[in-house]
Amino acid sequence: FKVPAIDNEPMKSYAPGSAERKGLEAAIAQMEQELPFEVPCIVNGQPVKTGKLFKQPIPSNHARHLCEYHEADEATVARAIDGALAAKAEWEAMPWNDRAAIFLRAADLVSGKYRYKLMAATILGQGKNAWQAEIDAAAELSDFLRFGVKYVEELYATQPPKNSPGVWNRVEYRALEGFVLAVSPFNFTAIGGNLPGAPAMVGNTVVWKPSPAATYSNYIVYQILAEAGVPPGVIQFVPGPPAEVVAQAISHPSFAALHFTGSTFVFKKLWKDIAANLDKYKGYPRIVGETGGKNFHVVHQSAEIQNAALQSVRAGFEYQGQKCSALSRVYVSSSAWNGGFKEKFLSEIAKIKVGRPQDFTNFMGPVIGRPAYDRIISKIKEAKDAGGEVLIGGTGDDSEGYFIQPTVILTKDPKSVTMREEIFGPVITVFVFEDNDWEKTLDLVDTTSEYGLTGSIFSQDRRALIQATNKLRNAAGNVYYNEKCTGAVVGQQPFGGARASGTNDKAGSMSIFYRFVSARSIKESF
Ligand code: GLU
Repeated sequence: FKVPAIDNEPMKSYAPGSAERKGLEAAIAQMEQELPFEVPCIVNGQPVKTGKLFKQPIPSNHARHLCEYHEADEATVARAIDGALAAKAEWEAMPWNDRAAIFLRAADLVSGKYRYKLMAATILGQGKNAWQAEIDAAAELSDFLRFGVKYVEELYATQPPKNSPGVWNRVEYRALEGFVLAVSPFNFTAIGGNLPGAPAMVGNTVVWKPSPAATYSNYIVYQILAEAGVPPGVIQFVPGPPAEVVAQAISHPSFAALHFTGSTFVFKKLWKDIAANLDKYKGYPRIVGETGGKNFHVVHQSAEIQNAALQSVRAGFEYQGQKCSALSRVYVSSSAWNGGFKEKFLSEIAKIKVGRPQDFTNFMGPVIGRPAYDRIISKIKEAKDAGGEVLIGGTGDDSEGYFIQPTVILTKDPKSVTMREEIFGPVITVFVFEDNDWEKTLDLVDTTSEYGLTGSIFSQDRRALIQATNKLRNAAGNVYYNEKCTGAVVGQQPFGGARASGTNDKAGSMSIFYRFVSARSIKESF
């Protein structure tokens, strides 16, 4: 048995008049007409309506909401856990090619039948423009599923290289004993699918708490997985109050692993809570998390200036800077800054249109919600109060949706607050360094933030690239040369960072799957 040859899902153009543009527009129009949708919890394949309704607002139009979801209560979470435990033996025993077929079929449903629906839900509910939704909900999600199957097949095939005479050694990759808790973020529908999907692929059963701000798109992902053949109980869909659902799951004796993407603060708290519960568990839970970033571009004097400026605009402002990988601090050599970077950077930003994401002419949409809006606006104020100069943007308009203008702050203090702290919004802080301070600048990049997720070096001088690579050994888990620091592709750039950015188990690669299996060695003599 071999999985069919796979490739990354080809990206569609959505050019005016194209079939895909029409298809997507129709899906958005239909969704706008039919909303709000009612979303139940799903336990053992059955909808559960707790009656405790919570609304997922539309961030570009907060008077309306996309869905009303039933929040899981204590009894529902308890049933979800029991059901996941009960479903596990049969799921794990299912032959691998049958499990693989389910996920390959799910990928085809994502990239085919449900493509525009899933994108429409991501556009309306999470405020992505069409191309960002295409990258996420269409391409990355199907890539996670297809490449996941390939990686798992390779994992299962990884066997000890040696058998002595009369002996057969083998390794069996068991699913973890217990259930996996997946806690997914709002910013990628694809991550919503991957957090429960990856552990389930290797035979685990999963209790999945999606982000309140992505409930509807994640519900569609759940439905796709079920339609593809994921049996009842294998993935339990339990939207609900995050703190309560998670606390209940991690205090259960059969809690076996956490698969998390979200904030550093929450991840650290969960790690401590898990430690506090350790004596209750059968084993040592696996803790896999991808959290924040304070990602950088460093522009050497030899850089191709136009490219560095354009890539910086994209990395900082695509999806309003709400990617863990988003660019938020730029170090530019003074000759590059004055030699065209500043002009190109600011003139490109001035062209950016901010508005409703279903309007194809808008490059930027809203930030995700009220707390995000308030936090970002107050960070900009804090930066100004500390002496930062706002070169462009700096304002927002929350009358209809949570819109913030792309903002650039120039600072003379390389350790100022917006050079250090994650903002998770459309704010880039720039520090201009003297050309001959290259090494000193690399030290600054390395020591200024607690994170270690992504970063790019722009230079045509290979010695500068080598110096940067060596000095910034631990400053980023994803490094780019002459390329923006966002947009890792599954199967091409395994994604994740260390330091405060996470456990660096690399989504979209083989290594993530090792975390959700517990190997058993078998030596047989004959
Ligand atoms: N993998 C995405 C990228 O490289 C970021 C994922 C995230 O924001 O968590 O752009």
